[in-house]
Amino acid sequence: MIKIKPLGVNGAFTKYYHNNYVFELGDRNLLVDAGTTLRYSLPEAEYKESDITDIIITHLHSDHVGGLEEFAQRCKWIHNHKPNLWLRGSMKEEFEEVVGKGLFTDGLTLNDYFNVYTCGIGYLNSFKIGNYTVELIQTDNLHAQGMKSFGIKVHDEELHNNVIFTSDIAKHENAQFRNLINPETVALFHDVSIIPNAVHSYLEDVVEFYKDDIDLNKMYGMHYQDDADLDHLKQIYGINFVEKGKVIEFN
Ligand SMILES: [Zn+2]
Repeated sequence: MIKIKPLGVNGAFTKYYHNNYVFELGDRNLLVDAGTTLRYSLPEAEYKESDITDIIITHLHSDHVGGLEEFAQRCKWIHNHKPNLWLRGSMKEEFEEVVGKGLFTDGLTLNDYFNVYTCGIGYLNSFKIGNYTVELIQTDNLHAQGMKSFGIKVHDEELHNNVIFTSDIAKHENAQFRNLINPETVALFHDVSIIPNAVHSYLEDVVEFYKDDIDLNKMYGMHYQDDADLDHLKQIYGINFVEKGKVIEFN
């Protein structure tokens, strides 16, 4: 069973919490992104740092990675806990530049904080977290020009279903997500801006683009603006919207 807990659902400039998630995958808890609000959002969702067994950072904007340094420090120095970090190889150098300033003192390296697994994008580079297969889906330049980024597809090997998660994206029509939808897909979590936006997909365009490929009730909008009127938007567009703390289970 894939169980997804949204730690927050809003964008970079939110008054609330950033669009970060815990995917509960059997006895593993995969943290997907660690924004600067993580120090509040994680305990509010009733997780301790030591509950997180695995981490994926989809790109290096502060609402996705800005809380990782503190998280790593707390894991090491308070909990003596070393989670697995699934790091896209081609992003490693930039990743270390972003988080290393604070972590790499006194000769410490990434390996002192995490079990680092370097991975690649695409189906052929899929890896297993417990009984779940994870594929990274490249979205370089499709969220922000000149920026490496990716979404993920998580496949439950026991129940034979999968969840697709775009993370941040603007040019979704140039990404692979639509091609990856198959009869086993139970959910598509998609970046949706409720106002036209240069670095995020616009809700109306997203619904129009995917509507013939997936049931709208399998779509979950995320990363939207604060104080959106979700009931109203649901009525108009027919898709779901993720909400902070509201667990979504696929069984
Ligand atoms: Zn971003």
